[in-house]
Amino acid sequence: MSKLTLDRILQSQGYGTRKYCRNLIEDGEVSINGVSVTDYRAAFDTSDLEFTIFDEVWRYREHVYIVLNKPANFECSRKPSHHPGVLTLLPEQFTWRELQPVGRLDHDTTGMLLMSDDGPFIHAQSSPKRHIPKVYVATTHDPVTPELIAQLLDGVQLHDEPAPLAAQTCRMLGANELEIVLEQGKYHQVKRMLAAAGNHCSALRRVAIGSLTLESLALEEGEWTYLTEAQLALLA
Ligand code: URA
Repeated sequence: MSKLTLDRILQSQGYGTRKYCRNLIEDGEVSINGVSVTDYRAAFDTSDLEFTIFDEVWRYREHVYIVLNKPANFECSRKPSHHPGVLTLLPEQFTWRELQPVGRLDHDTTGMLLMSDDGPFIHAQSSPKRHIPKVYVATTHDPVTPELIAQLLDGVQLHDEPAPLAAQTCRMLGANELEIVLEQGKYHQVKRMLAAAGNHCSALRRVAIGSLTLESLALEEGEWTYLTEAQLALLA
């Protein structure tokens, strides 16, 4: 059992500095199990703890693991330069908790983006050694041909890579649409592979990571959800 004082609990959950959290508590903004608590020294067991703050109910989480259905025109960088950052789509306390994307998507790429504040988890998920498949649906400028699919499966040489990069699987979905599965996560990889194969990617969506599909999450673009233990297990 891990007991923490209420000011430490709020601070750990991303509500600001300890002083700010103490003020929130003393101002009556926080309740536990429906009862307002104004003493910031009150201590609570954090397992299965639910608290209400600004009339919203939250559960205490040591770490946050979420998935966002990323819309176009948002940057994954913490210091975005041309478009708003993806953190602006999430509750403010996630910025305080320093949530980071697990591997980046380009500003114009849509779809599944994992985010967490658990460093070892981010590191493990991003490790090239793990070979976690990422599934993308690409819209192409020129029609998809059997030759294009064959090239992507055989491997294409990107100018700054020592060896050709190949898709794990690749199949045609429509006249100008293909599904491509990659084990690596190189910079602009799908776009550069399509360009190296003589086509051009005009839109890109990530639809699955490991065995977790975007479809199963039923999120509208811009929506996010916490990942359950079962969903986290599908990411491997
Ligand atoms: N490949 C790309 O080219 N862009 C992405 O955002 C992801 C994979």
